[in-house]
Amino acid sequence: MTIETAAQAAYIVAALLFILALAGLSKHETAKAGNTFGIAGMALALAATIALAVNHGINSLGVALLIAATVIGAAIGLYRAGKVEMTGMPELIALLHSFVGLAAVLVGWNGYLHVEADLGGADAALLRRQELLGIHSAEVFIGVFIGAVTFTGSIVAFLKLSARIKSNPLVLPGKNILNLGALVAFAVLTAWFVIQPQLWLLIVVTALALLLGWHLVASIGGGDMPVVVSMLNSYSGWAAAASGFLLENDLLIVTGALVGSSGAYLSYIMCKAMNRSFISVIAGGFGIEAGPADDKDYGEHREITAEGVAELLATADSVIITPGYGMAVAQAQHGVAELTRKLREKGVNVRFGIHPVAGRLPGHMNVLLAEAKVPYDIVLEMDEINDDFADTSVVLVIGANDTVNPAATEDPGSPIAGMPVLKVWEAQNVIVFKRSMASGYAGVQNPLFFRENSAMLFGDAKDRVEDILRALAEHRVLAA
Ligand code: NDP
Repeated sequence: MTIETAAQAAYIVAALLFILALAGLSKHETAKAGNTFGIAGMALALAATIALAVNHGINSLGVALLIAATVIGAAIGLYRAGKVEMTGMPELIALLHSFVGLAAVLVGWNGYLHVEADLGGADAALLRRQELLGIHSAEVFIGVFIGAVTFTGSIVAFLKLSARIKSNPLVLPGKNILNLGALVAFAVLTAWFVIQPQLWLLIVVTALALLLGWHLVASIGGGDMPVVVSMLNSYSGWAAAASGFLLENDLLIVTGALVGSSGAYLSYIMCKAMNRSFISVIAGGFGIEAGPADDKDYGEHREITAEGVAELLATADSVIITPGYGMAVAQAQHGVAELTRKLREKGVNVRFGIHPVAGRLPGHMNVLLAEAKVPYDIVLEMDEINDDFADTSVVLVIGANDTVNPAATEDPGSPIAGMPVLKVWEAQNVIVFKRSMASGYAGVQNPLFFRENSAMLFGDAKDRVEDILRALAEHRVLAA
């Protein structure tokens, strides 16, 4: 067997491992195995790629550079992954997507320099003989376009998610026309480049795509960011697939398509969860139109102490916990798991209601609760639990805000209007754990805090949960 066939076989195995990884990652129970499949697939793919490169006759300096780049990249990756806080994951992912975009742009430009910029050269002559020159030019152009959109789009997402820039939507006049105009210009320029490849066309499309990526994400409002993150995930996949075509690397095409389509499917699920139109998301700029600032007077809020909550819990027969981003910030999941265990031991029916966009990345809450060993069967999706709030004695809203905001269903003028939310206000008592009256990620006020059956438990969620546990233990409230 030649190295070429062995490498191609390794590519097929790696592709299968990637598919197994995706399948594994779709359930908590198999997520670890899924990760292992992914790591094995990537290791195999890297080894096969290096073997192929050597077989194609790159010199020893090339091999050394390839290995050095792999080792340095792996070291940085391991360091960052080890250090990143769970709350910092979305921005890290957004940053990594930008690398994929940048790589696709560089691969595209490299393809141009080798072929279109040197039409008298051997590579161009070979492609011309095979009548593939036009296809190559199209691949260069499309790859650069998708890559550049992904690059700047991901950078804006990174800046918004890490609060380095405001998450408010940028509303340029005629933003949809701008986006549409950019797409039409791209189509025209592609045709032009295929017929007559010229440097200035590539420069123009690169600049156009960089601006479009920036504008697409900048015009999307805070509450819609989850869809943007998964959409950029999808774009990064298509950018990688485009590079795969240029580099004639089948594995890159397959992997890119897997990432692209699973990202698109995730965007679709998120859109459904947030009641947004999928088509307008991929068209970009689907974000909220800037509305007037919310200066409504909602009245007074009520406060409660940890002891008061302990008393309430002691007499409750059913409790639903709806965690949000604040639980992740406070790292309160272990205390919450302990509280759950204590209450369940006393026969209280405790369940969790998970909003699809709670936290800062898809599945964020599920990961935290799994880490704290909360049994999976009491962790329910929003749709599974939303009708049960009315029959619930106490709801503990732990660091959640936008995902439990009644304005989404009751106020058509709200920036988050139409987004399905957990109907916590239907319960007899709602306790909101947060540090202040500040708004959540979408920046909108939450009328829940001012309802008669709501009470605020101010402070860091972890500290307050521990206070409740202490109160329960000291007063033996639950034993009574
Ligand atoms: P929110 O971001 O709406 O609110 C979180 C709340 O937690 C804040 O109001 C904050 O209030 C409170 N909080 C912060 N730190 C602490 C702490 N240490 N202890 C107690 N409370 C704390 O959270 P949700 O999970 O309800 O909603 C998620 C939002 O993020 C949605 O708007 C969603 O669209 C968006 N988003 C989601 C992504 C995803 O993929 N899931 C990705 C990107 C954005 P205070 O400051 O007063 O303590």
